[in-house]
Amino acid sequence: MKIVFATGNLNKLKEINEISKGSGIEFILPGDGFNPVEDGKTFEENSYKKAKEANRVSKMMSLADDSGLCVEALNGAPGLFSARYAGTQQEKIDKILNELEGSTNRKAKFVCVMTLLDENGEILHVSKGECHGEIAQKQSGTNGFGYDPVFIVENTNRTMAEMSEDEKNNISHRGRALTDMLSFLRSMLG
Ligand code: IMP
Repeated sequence: MKIVFATGNLNKLKEINEISKGSGIEFILPGDGFNPVEDGKTFEENSYKKAKEANRVSKMMSLADDSGLCVEALNGAPGLFSARYAGTQQEKIDKILNELEGSTNRKAKFVCVMTLLDENGEILHVSKGECHGEIAQKQSGTNGFGYDPVFIVENTNRTMAEMSEDEKNNISHRGRALTDMLSFLRSMLG
């Protein structure tokens, strides 16, 4: 069964297809004309807006995720603005490291909210996943994407960028939200 995944980010598409391997579900891109406006005030609102836009262009069952990094000492920033926090990804990482310079509270979490819509654009299920950890003193590792090189996963002493794809998917915010979504889909499909 094919479900549209509301993203232009090929890393994310690859990750969720990897996690869903063996489930009989394949996620595909929405195709031409997909142009979501992420002006919601919560991860929930933005994931709904993205799913709605994917459903509008594809007329298929659509899944969207909205995710971000929330740093406690920065009052939850970059949060909803994780993708737009600075220019390049390296600049985003540098900005967080600078903002946290000298800070002893480096607690942070990744959050992911997923919304699944049916062919008619009605909500079928919403799921949420979190992954807790802290911001490293300096970046390390080359796997993954985004803020992975500065996010040390709780109880591991390693950044997400130092983990294999499988390891990350088992503990990540997206992995957790998708596991819940897949069990909903399995029960729905019987
Ligand atoms: P969006 O969910 O596409 O709006 O983007 C969220 C942003 O949060 C991404 O562009 C990344 O900067 C960051 N982000 C979300 N998930 C991850 C992850 O698994 N690793 C590292 N950064 C992430």
